[in-house]
Amino acid sequence: MPYRFLIIGAGFSGTVLANRLINNLDCAIDIWDERNHIGGNCYTERDSETGIMVHKYGPHIFNTDKKEIWDFVNSFIEFRPYVHRVKAMSKGKIYSLPVNLQTINQIFDKTFTPAEAKDFLETLGDKTISEPKNFEEQALRFIGKQLYYAFFYGYTKKQWGCEPAELPASILKRIPVRFNYDDNYHNNIYTGIPVDGYTALFEKLIDNPKIKVELNKKFDPSIDTAAYDHVIYTGPVDAYFNFKYGRLGYRTVTFEKFTEKGDHQGVTQINYCDEEVPYTRIAEHKHFTPWENHDKTVYFKEYSKETGEDDIPYYPKRLQQDKELLLKYRKDATGLDGISFLGRLATYRYMDMHHVIGEALGYSKTFIEALKAGKKPPVFPNAEE
Ligand code: UDP
Repeated sequence: MPYRFLIIGAGFSGTVLANRLINNLDCAIDIWDERNHIGGNCYTERDSETGIMVHKYGPHIFNTDKKEIWDFVNSFIEFRPYVHRVKAMSKGKIYSLPVNLQTINQIFDKTFTPAEAKDFLETLGDKTISEPKNFEEQALRFIGKQLYYAFFYGYTKKQWGCEPAELPASILKRIPVRFNYDDNYHNNIYTGIPVDGYTALFEKLIDNPKIKVELNKKFDPSIDTAAYDHVIYTGPVDAYFNFKYGRLGYRTVTFEKFTEKGDHQGVTQINYCDEEVPYTRIAEHKHFTPWENHDKTVYFKEYSKETGEDDIPYYPKRLQQDKELLLKYRKDATGLDGISFLGRLATYRYMDMHHVIGEALGYSKTFIEALKAGKKPPVFPNAEE
């Protein structure tokens, strides 16, 4: 008898897992998603007014250092080389991000060489902080007050809705500091944008007659899933338990859309670092695909706010109280049989696309091995953090 699986959520976790299971096991898979499209927050579509490929839930740039992940996504669709260059607006001036030699020379009105800039930044860092315990300490230790307040304090407060000192240092560590003129926002080896958008990738991942997708179908954990051998849940872990211990903190993002003729800002992304500006950034999506020609342009102002009951959860805040709640939910989940929790929402972590794909690929192997050995697959792909 073929296995029957139910996957909740058609984002990267659900669709990558579905792809691996259908190709490696005798099985049939149902995927349910509560939205009216597949692809989760990575969904792309052509804007009806301008024809530009729009990242509906905000900019997504594919980056990875892992060749196997890059090869995996490229085996389904074509990616073109794309380097993400971000500008920052601070106190009425435009700078280059991540902080690089151009930024340092501009903000301090210098002509430093790489070695001079490095020595200079050393003098700015707060040496009394030996082991930075949070975002703010990490910034003050490594870049000093002036750069921190110019580019990070206001933006982070708007983005996360709290003092940067309440946030983990790991959030700042996502962004490099460079002592050369390299203004690539990312450090990864492989980077690109899909020629036909991400939705095409999701379609290919689940293109199999034994995979059935139902959209606009919300999962209710109390329903009988006995017809399935296993359920893989990729929704928010607290929602699965009907928020019985309380809600995990998330920030959500809202978008204000504008269209006009020509080119609005000359680059894909400008961050607005001052606290007084209500939005965090403006993304102009035609710059993701410089190989296309469009007379018009479409851009979005992004606003960040706390996630309400009807909002889409984006960024897990992972404050101390959230981590305590998460432990309770994980404990309850670990006691369940016939279900796995996979992905950004089900594990409550700030994950990029390549992390999600890598974890789904790894988990699919563990899952298949466990089934073949007649053992219970691990409920979570990751250890408690
Ligand atoms: N950040 C900031 N100023 C910027 C860009 C980023 O303070 O101009 C901080 C902010 O806290 C953000 C974090 O760095 O959440 C990580 O930035 P990244 O660009 O990786 O965020 P994402 O693209 O995932 O929203």
